[in-house]
Amino acid sequence: MSYAPFDWLDDEARRRADAGLVRSLRPRPAETELLDLASNDYLGLSRHPEVTAAAAEAVRTWGAGATGSRLVTGSTALHAELEQELADFCGFESALVFSSGYAANLAALTALTGRDSLIVSDAGNHASIVDGCRLSRAATAVVPHADPEAVRKALHSHGGRALAVTDSVFSVDGDAAPLAGLAEVCRGADAALLVDDAHGLGVLGRGGRGALEAAGLAGGEGVVATLTLSKSLGSQGGAVLGPDRVIRHLVNAARTFIFDTGLAPASAGAALGALRLLRREPERAARAGAVAVELYARLTEAGLTAVRPDAAVVSVRAPSAESAVRWAADCRTAGLAVGCFRPPSVPDGISRLRLTARADLTRKQISAAVGTVLATAPLPVS
Ligand code: PMP
Repeated sequence: MSYAPFDWLDDEARRRADAGLVRSLRPRPAETELLDLASNDYLGLSRHPEVTAAAAEAVRTWGAGATGSRLVTGSTALHAELEQELADFCGFESALVFSSGYAANLAALTALTGRDSLIVSDAGNHASIVDGCRLSRAATAVVPHADPEAVRKALHSHGGRALAVTDSVFSVDGDAAPLAGLAEVCRGADAALLVDDAHGLGVLGRGGRGALEAAGLAGGEGVVATLTLSKSLGSQGGAVLGPDRVIRHLVNAARTFIFDTGLAPASAGAALGALRLLRREPERAARAGAVAVELYARLTEAGLTAVRPDAAVVSVRAPSAESAVRWAADCRTAGLAVGCFRPPSVPDGISRLRLTARADLTRKQISAAVGTVLATAPLPVS
């Protein structure tokens, strides 16, 4: 008998191809002529000279890698500075940085719950939250999207320790979570509230301090935030922000903190550089949101269906997965990079183009982007 334990993958690949759902990697050229409305570089900081210089300086001082886990050799003064400044900026007592936002979500969910806990999770939450719920071994109730009343009912069905978790801004449609309502429900049930502010940091709140600051919830007793350093801050990595005792607990109990190599110095340096820049130039935050609203207004006025953006993500409906893929490819041919979301990335099965607004887009670039999306649209637009 032949040895072929991966033969089953050919059937999987065929099924995926038949459904038009094959994904492939395409290296991004270092210098591109494409207009970028696909990345999460909301503030245009990933190539900002101050940010790249801060990364280079961090490498010169601390080396290319963290060299070990945070509890062994991977903690530097730079990590401590970044944690202090992130916490101060967002209005929390303490912060802890991770090698990714994904790891930060896994850490918070697994360390703050246990087998006897209940996690109440929004149906639209990011994959890293879904995986964190699974890893936690807690009972998980998935509730309808953006529905504090459903969260309240789920929490009331449970007597023990509980935590509700939500994205602040949902990555597919760009809509915001009802944070005030969720916080009230959590207070009523003595449950913690965990908010993934990956898409809110740098865009929402005063000078980009995030969705929790905007909602007046930053630093609240039962409130914990997770962040990524890879979107508005143009770097790489993640963080958990919360009360000091929560952060101290994570240092001792979160497996993706303890057993993972520390955040690379270059990433920590770049994130700190970006954070300081944002403090000096707070107008960047509001500008990203304004560009998103302008994109939305111009596309919907022309007849496309889109979700009104609450932050910097503009989600435009496509008639089918195939047409979404073709639409994104046609945009690319015309010089515009846009995101394309289709099953299984979208739980509701509705495919979309995903446009991300950037604070540094010029009027001319915004008009060019709108023109290209409309010119390549699969449906007739007025
Ligand atoms: N949460 C949300 C809502 C995200 O969109 C992402 C990134 N796609 C993450 C978490 C994961 O962050 P990272 O890319 O830093 O792992």
